[in-house]
Amino acid sequence: MNKEIRVRIAPSPSGYLHVGTARMAVCNWLFARHNQGKFILRIEDTDVARSDPQMVEVILESLKWLGLDWDDGPYYQSQRMELYKKYAQILLERNKAYFCYCTPETLKRKREEAAQKKINWVYDRTCLKLSEQEKTELERKNTPKAVRIFIPEGETTFYDIVYKDLKKENKELDDFVILRSDFRPTYNFACVVDDLDMKISHVIRGNDHIANTFKQVLLYRALGAEMPAFAHLPLNLAMDRQKISKRKGAVAITDYRDAGYLPEVMVNFLAISGWSPKDEREIMSREELIQSFSLEGVSQANPIFDMQKLEWMNGEYIRAYDNQKLLDLIIPFLIQENLITSETAKEKREWLLKYILLFKERAKTLKEFAERGKYLFSYDFQYEPKAVSKTFNSIEVADRLNKFAERISSLDDFKKEKIEDALRKLAEELKIEPAPLIHSVRLATTGVSGGPPLFDILELLGKEEVIKRIQKAVEFIQTR
Ligand code: GLU
Repeated sequence: MNKEIRVRIAPSPSGYLHVGTARMAVCNWLFARHNQGKFILRIEDTDVARSDPQMVEVILESLKWLGLDWDDGPYYQSQRMELYKKYAQILLERNKAYFCYCTPETLKRKREEAAQKKINWVYDRTCLKLSEQEKTELERKNTPKAVRIFIPEGETTFYDIVYKDLKKENKELDDFVILRSDFRPTYNFACVVDDLDMKISHVIRGNDHIANTFKQVLLYRALGAEMPAFAHLPLNLAMDRQKISKRKGAVAITDYRDAGYLPEVMVNFLAISGWSPKDEREIMSREELIQSFSLEGVSQANPIFDMQKLEWMNGEYIRAYDNQKLLDLIIPFLIQENLITSETAKEKREWLLKYILLFKERAKTLKEFAERGKYLFSYDFQYEPKAVSKTFNSIEVADRLNKFAERISSLDDFKKEKIEDALRKLAEELKIEPAPLIHSVRLATTGVSGGPPLFDILELLGKEEVIKRIQKAVEFIQTR
């Protein structure tokens, strides 16, 4: 029988859920779902000083928002200290590890001396060479001690699904600490213990961990344990091919949520960055991704975190969305911008549905719906200064606007076709082109010079509101 597929994501709660970690979560989750396996969540919080419980909340919230449901966990490493001690004990008993009584100061000094001589410092095994008597004396004095793994001579190799055969000379590694003097495990040790204890079958993580994997392989060997399969995925780079950083844009998944990206887009986008299905499709539903995802399709090249592609994809999803569902997603953004309240959202639902249709064709994010059409919610805008000098440039414009207001006041049916008809007829009578009249009505009613089709906007504003806005614009032009 084949072994059960069990994968995990193991974020450290020292920050938000980074897009890079989120991509690893997506790949692990897809791999688990594709193989009817289990996806496990483990919080690596042994570094108390750098772990923040609030960040744990944000990480869980981000994973939930992405829809990456976990089957097991969250496990907290901080609650599993006994387990790490137990495994360290096993290694000590098997002489695969030893106590190190060196003080941090001594180690620091030796490291600095080596750095001055420009030599790569590895632990000099002072404590491996201690006599029984010396050890007894140190113990008697209750000297704090860490546990170090003993690295044998030779080389360490492992097979990586993405990078194939990887090899390192053991002399490049040192007898690294696995348990600190306060019993806290180091990352590599806790990771191996947990991956074993959680029966992880595949470790899928960023290629920045390859160096760690050599150390972990040595730990599996020392424990005489079977290793999981490894797949190290190349990390995303920013558009300038440098590491993704806050300076260059959003790094936290919650930032993308708050900027109006859809969770299914983030999953789709992160899944296809660095991996592609055989047929090179880009827009893929969750089910399609689950069906096609495989580690074999992961390339060794670093994928670029292409913001334009992300925007494009978000726009495509928005256009394909059912209007009612889309509105539900947009409402929180409208509330946040103080354009509506949750009560008015219910009362104005029909109106809001028409409102979002004005922007649906071109929107790239949900947030844009709350930014682009503010003028439809209130009239406290300033006219765009450039447009004012171009469009509100004579008293004649005010006269024409007045005339247009008169015309529409007699319309019984305030529908866009009728409004357009009225405007074109007026232009004809005034012997002017419709365009300048359209521009001035747009500026008068929206404060800006561009946007969705004017007659749709006017219909949505309603007759009274349009007339009110035109009157205000007329006053504005007259007093300029
Ligand atoms: N806590 C590690 C990280 O966030 C986990 C790495 C791993 O998957 O082993 O990078």
